Amino acid sequence: MPARKHAPRPKVAGDSPFGRVALIGIGLIGSSLARVLRRERLARHIAIATRSPQTLAAAKRLKLGHSYTTDPARAAEGADLVVLCTPMSAYAEIARAIAPALSAGAIVSDVGSVKSPVAREVGPALPKGVHLVPGHPVAGTEHSGPKAGFAELFQGRWCILTPDAKANKSAVERVAGLWRRAGSSVVVMNADHHDRVLAITSHLPHLIAYTIVDTAAQLEKDVQGEVIKFSASGFRDFTRIAASDPVMWRDIFLANREAVLDILQRFNEDLTALQRAIRRGDGRMLEETFRRTRAIRKGVIDAKQA
Ligand code: NAP
Repeated sequence: MPARKHAPRPKVAGDSPFGRVALIGIGLIGSSLARVLRRERLARHIAIATRSPQTLAAAKRLKLGHSYTTDPARAAEGADLVVLCTPMSAYAEIARAIAPALSAGAIVSDVGSVKSPVAREVGPALPKGVHLVPGHPVAGTEHSGPKAGFAELFQGRWCILTPDAKANKSAVERVAGLWRRAGSSVVVMNADHHDRVLAITSHLPHLIAYTIVDTAAQLEKDVQGEVIKFSASGFRDFTRIAASDPVMWRDIFLANREAVLDILQRFNEDLTALQRAIRRGDGRMLEETFRRTRAIRKGVIDAKQA
């Protein structure tokens, strides 16, 4: 499908890298990005679209953009950058909805936590001449919604871009520039590689947290009380992670199924080895493992990712 030619993109004023930016979805990530766009004056016009009138009203009250709609196509009309900031399960439908409104040369990006499905689900819907530059800001909290966002969320974090090999270089550079202005370091990598790395660094830890907290929740009532009471001994950190958005995490595990199952298999083997060491009283094995993991923590601190 060729891109429509009759929806002119606004000229960029002053040093704004973008004329009109459409944010589709205005929760934690979308609203944080809106705040960055405003703080850094990166866009002449920020068009906000979200599904519900309630969230739209909240975004308006927070003055996150210049125009507000529940129709993603209206927001995308004439935009030179559209960023999908919804759960990933909504991408295909949104891509089909915005496609007729996109002009040639427009860039479509996203912030989803799994990258290989984006090219598959969004790419085919986009008109020729529209550039797809998938992205993942590796930053977040367990909170959701437009009130939860803040402009500093991306400061000192990584943003991973996963354009395909044939992607337009200048489109990739423009999206990279935006994330740099958000305070992030940008790295470009292959989408499958991204998904394998994130399976171990993010998805598995969340799955473990969900499991531990759910196991505790299913213990008898009196023990549950003790769990909360003594939660500062380690459990507390898991409860924070396990409070992350259920819809978003459902989508992540379904979208990154293979990489997560692969890493889960390895994890189960390693867990079984530790279980055996405990049963056999193999203190040496336990201590060696814990020394190795302590060194990893030091590496995380040295890399300023603590
Ligand atoms: P959020 O706070 O829950 O906000 C989601 C936004 O998407 C809301 O505006 C919501 O609209 C809209 N939305 C939800 N379902 C929709 C649907 N079916 N169709 C259209 N719009 C829909 O979510 P978030 O934490 O910002 O996450 C958004 C994206 O960022 C996800 O793809 C996630 O993978 C990615 N991400 C999240 C984090 C994190 O830590 N949270 C980190 C990195 C990347 P209504 O409220 O109007 O229904």
